[in-house]
Amino acid sequence: MRLWRNQGSKDKFDSGTGWPSFTKPIVSDAVVQKVDETGRVEVLCATCMSHLGHVFPDGPPPTQMRYCMNSIALALE
Ligand SMILES: [Zn+2]
Repeated sequence: MRLWRNQGSKDKFDSGTGWPSFTKPIVSDAVVQKVDETGRVEVLCATCMSHLGHVFPDGPPPTQMRYCMNSIALALE
């Protein structure tokens, strides 16, 4: 299942970090979030628990969240 679209996504924005950044996943039930050992909130695939990226509470409206995704997460189907 593709959780983030790299091209043509209305949820994608330029965070200035160089990472693909999104305000939300396409399917919120498909990911789980947990605080990792560095204190950041990690985003994991709910199916296989693979690491997809991190989420920070400093994004733009409407969610105010910044999902900072690894490029591998964008290629997943
Ligand atoms: Zn998975």
